[in-house]
This record gives sequence, C-alpha cells and structure tokens, in this order.
Amino acid sequence: MSADAKVIEMTATENNPARGLIYEENLLWEKDRSDTPGVDLPASEGLASRTGVKARGDIGLPQVSEPQALRHFVKMSTWNYSIDHGFFPLGSCTMKHNPRLNEKLARLPGFAHIHPKQPASTVQGAFKVMHELQNWLGELTALPGICLAPAAGAHGELAGIMTIKRAHEQKGDTRRKIILTPDSSHGTNPATAVMCGYQVRSIPTKEEGRLSVESFKEALYATSEDGSDIAGMMVTKPNTCGLFETNIQELADLLHEAGGYFYCDGANFNALVGKVRPGDFGVDVMHINLHKTFSTPHGGGGPGSGPICCTEELAQYMPVPTVIEDNGDFRLEWEEDRPTTLGRLKGFQGQFGMHVRALAYMYSHGSDGLKQVSEDAVLSANYVLSELSDDYYAPYGGPCMHEAMITDKNQKEAGVTTLDIAKGLCENGYHPMTVYFPLVLPGTMLIEPTETESKDAIDGFITVMKNFAKDVRDGDVEKFHNYPTSTPRRRLDEVKAARNPVLRWK
Ligand SMILES: *Cc1c(COP(=O)(O)O)cnc(C)c1O
Repeated sequence: MSADAKVIEMTATENNPARGLIYEENLLWEKDRSDTPGVDLPASEGLASRTGVKARGDIGLPQVSEPQALRHFVKMSTWNYSIDHGFFPLGSCTMKHNPRLNEKLARLPGFAHIHPKQPASTVQGAFKVMHELQNWLGELTALPGICLAPAAGAHGELAGIMTIKRAHEQKGDTRRKIILTPDSSHGTNPATAVMCGYQVRSIPTKEEGRLSVESFKEALYATSEDGSDIAGMMVTKPNTCGLFETNIQELADLLHEAGGYFYCDGANFNALVGKVRPGDFGVDVMHINLHKTFSTPHGGGGPGSGPICCTEELAQYMPVPTVIEDNGDFRLEWEEDRPTTLGRLKGFQGQFGMHVRALAYMYSHGSDGLKQVSEDAVLSANYVLSELSDDYYAPYGGPCMHEAMITDKNQKEAGVTTLDIAKGLCENGYHPMTVYFPLVLPGTMLIEPTETESKDAIDGFITVMKNFAKDVRDGDVEKFHNYPTSTPRRRLDEVKAARNPVLRWK
C-alpha cells in the first residue's frame, strides 16, 4: 500500500442522501521517513544540545511532517460517529444533544481555570454551583443526601451499594448476603453487587417484561422465611425493556419490611424527570447519570458523572465529599465531619465541569422544561414503537416509556437477524440501536430516540427500518449478510477479533 491515503467512494442511498469520501489511513509508522523530519533546522556548529532531550528518532516516534501528523489525526477523528453527526438511537444510553450553552458556561475562565487544591475561600462560586446542583437533584429525586463525586453510572452504583453495605454493617447486621435484581437489568447491576461481595439473585421477568409481585416474593423469601438474608434490590426505573415497573411501591414495601434497601439504577431517569420522584415510590439510594439525563457529553470513555442521591437515613454512610453551607460559606464535608461515611471513592470532588453543564441544563429548562423533556422523550419512543410494531415483533406491546423494544422474531426465519439489521443501519448512515440487550428475549433491539430528535430525523430512521422489513418479506435477504459494504471496514469476524486481537504493529 502506498504511503498516501486510499480513498473509497461511498454512494448515497435513497433514505440518506449523504455522499462522501471516506479515507483509508495508514499508521504513522508506515509514513515514517527518517529523511523528512517535521522541523528542519540547520545543525548548529560546535554546540551540543542543551535541552537534554533526545532526537525524536531515538525515542521511538515516527518521523513525519506537521501536516502529515495533523491530517492523520483529523482523518481518524472523522471515523468517530457521534451525536453531533446524526441520529444515535442507542437504547439505555440516552444519546441526546448536548446544548452548546452548557459548553459555553463550563468554559468560563472562573470555572475552567480553577484547581481543586485552591483554598476554599477562592472557589466559593464553584462550591455554590455544586451546592445548587445537589439541591436540584435532591428536589427532583426526593432524596436529600447527595454525593456528586462518582465518575460514572457504574461508579455511582458502586457508591450506592457500598452505602447500603455500610448501613447494614453499622447496624451490626451481617446476615445479609444477597442482592435481588431482575433478569433484564443492566450488566453493571449484578457486577456491582458481586464487586461489593454480595451474591446475586436474579428475578425472571420474561413473561411480562416487568417484575411481578409473585416472582419478587419468591426471590425475597427463597432462602429465609422473612427475607432477613436480603441486603437490597437493584431495579432500573423505567426498566431496560423501556417499561414502568407498575408494582414498584408494593415491592419496595415488601423489601423494607424484610429490612432491605432499594437501590434504583437511575440511568433511565430521562423518562421520569420532573414527573415522578423516586424517593416517593420507596427508593433509598440511586445514581443519576448526568451524562445521560442532564445532557452532559458522553462516549469515548468519559468524563461522565454519576452522583448518588439517598435518604436522610443513608446520607450518613454515603461517600464523601458533599458540599455544605457553613455559616454562609461553602465547603466540602470530609471524613472528619462525617465519621460514619464509607470514605472516599474518587480524588477531590468529582467531575466539576460536568456539574456546571448539568446545572446549566437544569437552569435553562426550569422545572417545567425538565418535565417536558421526559414527556417528549416518551412521546418519541412511542412514535417509533407504533410505527415499527407492524413490521417487527414488539413483545410487550405498548405504550412504552423512553425507549422501544422490538426483536428479530419476524425476520429470523428468513435468515435475517438483529446483527444483520444493525449492520444494515451502518450501511445506511445510522448508528445502530442497542442490540441483544436486554437479555430477557432473543434478538432484542432497544431503540431510544430521545426528546432532542426532530420528527424528520426519527422518520428517516423508521423508513430505513421499514424498508428492511419489506426487503425481508420480498425475499431480498442476501445483501443483509454482507452489510456494511461501503464503510472502510466490512463485516468483521467479531468472535476472532475479540479472542485474538492484534494490538501491535509489526
Ligand atoms: C448507562 C447505564 C449504566 C452505566 O452508566 P455508565 O455511566 O456507563 O457507567 C447503568 N445502568 C443503565 C440502565 C444504563 O443505561
């Protein structure tokens, strides 16, 4: 292959008029030319280098010019599909538009240029922002104990379950070894419980897509008469089938009677915010994904932000720090102030830039605007579900909450699976939905359009999906197995890629 980029022509399709050039890009090592250094200064006579730094060639970096290096990274950056590129219906991930107003505020020098080791008296404004965010989260969840520190949703889960564990331990209750969670739960739920040393008991929800009181009771009392070996339950609300758990208050009461705590995975708070307060239906502790519900950016590894909110009872055990107001001054509350805390889970105060963005989002929407966010998110998902349910199998009917679940049941017999449909979406310029999750049924597809997409954008996606179903009905299925064909990389052997990854260039 030549050192120059190879160009592939991508053709437009009927539903997606995009047409463009997609660049192949070699590794910088393949462009390495020791005779063309990026900076070309004449050798200085009779002077040794005073920098103490070796020449680039010696420290193992490729020798390329500045434009070569620049183009290399800029081209690769165009390979990242993002919410700023287009529709991103990844269920459970709430890939919604990140308002640029939030970005503008997070970049104000007074926010962007401060350091966590500055004296508290010089960062009162920043603490006030965090305090205000705590107040809003407390108000929206009806859970007044807030710790903003956790760095993501999964980290918030860890913080929440450690809080529950700490509470049982401080009460001297050491019999509780089990965490209950429905079989539709996000993988981070059972993983968190196990990391905290608990056994996981899974509750089947396949029939209804929801927890039933009977199956919950069965799990609660399976190994003890009164549920006294249950530490708590982890339930996502709405659940990962996009459904509201209709029995939740009754389940919470049964759990509390047995002495367990209710952990709510709040990643889907997008569907409830401004409408329902989790503390009102019995939640003891939950995490909030600021990078989902409150529109701070996510993907690409972070930074996210997963604050936890808990009851007054549990607040004494949750991690530090929390911002408190002390005689008119704001400061961080640490272990010295709250000896019952489980301690620190993160350096300093958490992802402050995300706190600014989330509060900006809350202020710009107001309480009525946040309510509309969840109403519109639910409306968008129900539109998708109703448009697609003639063509695709919708196991739990409707209405749904903020995401629509379908499966490949109607297409599978003709040999077209969820994977083929996902690859076909790539071919047509759409990021696929979440596939094969939740695990309750085979071939699930979880679609979350979010409230920020226009009807036109959603219609474009629906049209592609409807055309797929029609192609399958017409027997035009061969192409599905080759999708995608116009991307730089075609259908990969994903099993081989996962089992034998080639991570080193030779
Ligand atoms: C996204 C998500 C999580 C994990 O959040 P991260 O910020 O990715 O760690 C947990 N549970 C559910 C239901 C989610 O959608």
